[in-house]
Amino acid sequence: MTTSSNLGYPRIGPNRELKRALEGYWTRRISRTELQRVAATLRAGGWQRQQAAGIDHIPSSDFSYYDHVLDTCAMVGAVPPRYGFAGDTVDLDTYFAMARGVGTPDRDVTAMEMTKWFDTNYHYIVPEFEAGQRFSLASTKVVDEFNEAKQLGILTRPVILGPVSFLLLGKAKDSNVRRLDLLQRLLPVYEEVLTRLAEAGSEWVQIDEPCLALDLQDAARGAYETAFGRLRQAGGSLKILLTSYFGELGPNLETALGLPVDGIHLDLMRAPEQLDDVLSRLPQSMALSAGVVDGRNVWLNDLGRSLEVLQKIVAAIGHERLIVAPSCSMLHVPIDLAREQKLDPEIRNWLSFADQKLQELAVLARAMSEGRDAVGEQIEDNRRRIASRGASVRVHRPEVKKRVAALGPGDTRRGSPYAQRRLVQRGKLPLAPFPTTTIGSFPQTSEVRAKRSAFTKGQIDREAYEAFLEQEIGRIVRFQEEIGIDVLVHGEPERNDMVQYFGERLTGFAFTGQGWVQSYGSRYVRPPIIYGDVARPEPMTVRWSTYAASLTDRPVKGMLTGPITMLQWSFVRDDQPRRDTARQIALAIRDEVCDLEAAGIGLVQIDEPAFREGLPLKRADWPAYLAWAVECFRLASSGVSDATQIHTHMCYSEFNDIISAIGELDADVISIESSRSQMELLEAFESYDYPNEIGPGVFDIHSPRVPGVEEIKQLLLKATKYLAPEKVWVNPDCGLKTRRWEEVRPALKNMVEAAKAVRAELVGVG
Ligand code: GLN
Ligand code: ZN
Repeated sequence: MTTSSNLGYPRIGPNRELKRALEGYWTRRISRTELQRVAATLRAGGWQRQQAAGIDHIPSSDFSYYDHVLDTCAMVGAVPPRYGFAGDTVDLDTYFAMARGVGTPDRDVTAMEMTKWFDTNYHYIVPEFEAGQRFSLASTKVVDEFNEAKQLGILTRPVILGPVSFLLLGKAKDSNVRRLDLLQRLLPVYEEVLTRLAEAGSEWVQIDEPCLALDLQDAARGAYETAFGRLRQAGGSLKILLTSYFGELGPNLETALGLPVDGIHLDLMRAPEQLDDVLSRLPQSMALSAGVVDGRNVWLNDLGRSLEVLQKIVAAIGHERLIVAPSCSMLHVPIDLAREQKLDPEIRNWLSFADQKLQELAVLARAMSEGRDAVGEQIEDNRRRIASRGASVRVHRPEVKKRVAALGPGDTRRGSPYAQRRLVQRGKLPLAPFPTTTIGSFPQTSEVRAKRSAFTKGQIDREAYEAFLEQEIGRIVRFQEEIGIDVLVHGEPERNDMVQYFGERLTGFAFTGQGWVQSYGSRYVRPPIIYGDVARPEPMTVRWSTYAASLTDRPVKGMLTGPITMLQWSFVRDDQPRRDTARQIALAIRDEVCDLEAAGIGLVQIDEPAFREGLPLKRADWPAYLAWAVECFRLASSGVSDATQIHTHMCYSEFNDIISAIGELDADVISIESSRSQMELLEAFESYDYPNEIGPGVFDIHSPRVPGVEEIKQLLLKATKYLAPEKVWVNPDCGLKTRRWEEVRPALKNMVEAAKAVRAELVGVG
């Protein structure tokens, strides 16, 4: 018999119960017992839904109050000293202090660092290791939750983040500590957990080693051999399923297949090509968990196609060793399509959220065990829905496809090289040295949000809403004039979100009402769904930018979100390559850029904060991605004359390794986040001579702190050590939408003063 399995179920609850409970607990509105009760109810509900769907291998300890990497820190007692942990068990408040920091009058401790989980939009807490790092079993969550499910009559497969990935995902706080050297100290804790699971009656354990899909050194491969040799011993008869996802195993396949485990899971959505190789080499003793249902996207599974893959596997290894699985944990998709009210019924018919994916897994396993006829109706319904999507006029716009097909090299090149453009732009736009500007948004006050919500709910009409926006833009323009900013923005008060605002104005994008997925902790997002060809029926921002320009004699910069960021922060179509979708978005943005130019806007910023995040997991795949990502940015930005100044903005600080691609974007000006690293990330510019202009961020917009004039001035002077002074712009790290006016006013004033002081000192103009 073929079995079905899940690798992880969303934690947040069908009605975002976890968010409410967590935030209630953090603000002392509910007790710890109440929080724990909500969590237990959510876990039980998830297990029961999976059981009802007919899933054979149901995961446990996939639940987390905050993050599963943080759970692993707690499990192994990797608690940094600043939390004052005495080394017994990590209690909930220590756990939340690690996740979020504490800032009360009697306790001031920073949170642990957070970063993106592989190439997803989920953020994990980065483990910290120091000299003399010790580990001890400090949380029995894995065993407790197994027992909890067992009490409900459900025998689960506990999930643990494996020891090698745990170390590789962490950071050594001391340069003398080599992460993998900690393995010998770490393994006893894992051994104890496996022993306890075996004692508790667990049949299988799922050990996630997602780092197997990365480029690894020999030392890491050796660590896998050591670790799994020891875990095998400790677990006794406990069967181990080794999982990796988000990419192919590639050169690590041999290591993985050589480990003493009882099953191996492959992501066959991301990397179907590896199947043949695996089938020819899979040891007799290993089961194969085939990830054929996409855990990263929301499309209906093509059951017919999946069955072909599964049949091929059965032909090679037989029924008994096949486990039908999602490609990865379902953490990355919304819970239940049935709850979705907002989506258009036609589009909804093409989708599948976690609960629907469970059904797909069960149908696939049953078709394999009992024959297709046993689930003939479901397969036929699925075939019809897949066909309706393929043929829908909503998906395909011939004029868009034609336009993309006709693109040539001329479409991704500005008229003249930067050096010439600079002269033209200087002539048209005489700016002082060290020109000041902002990244676009101004505080989204509760008033702004209240008006938007009143408009969405139909409580005020469009006229009233737009009049309010104009008033808000007027206020923002006047403020910038008053304090002497050189290049103004309109402030983005009309935008709910930098992707959603544009998606709502383009064809091919759909938005859910309930499609929440966890981004980090209690922060959830509702990513747009790109289902069809993208076009821009009419201008999206021209009205607001030109309104701002009409109020002032100073230059106003138009503000757009770039194609890669739109792609990266959405669920994308799976019926064409990402690149094709990105090109369509790029053309839509290009139209907007040209319309802004035609309306007299002389500077346009195209934000690409997610540009780096799109990088593939393996370096060998970087050049191909960078080539099309750069191409798309250039496509969006090259429709204008030399005189129009193109800006871009990226808010991450590590781009040393992609700096030449950043240069190839050929934006006239790029603004980046750099204040938190005290300009140190500008070191990248020592070896790479960035040809165009740069605005290194001079203050951290994540903090309410107001930087002083002298402090900003010193940062600017430091920047000129790496950058030619005539190339430097002065701006904050990022948009100001999350800040309050009380902070923004003095901070920007100080920024302008600092720019003037540097001008006087370096160029002799004040
Ligand atoms: N223009 C956007 C803003 O200022 C940029 C946001 C971002 O980079 N994430 O809000
Ligand atoms: Zn930013």
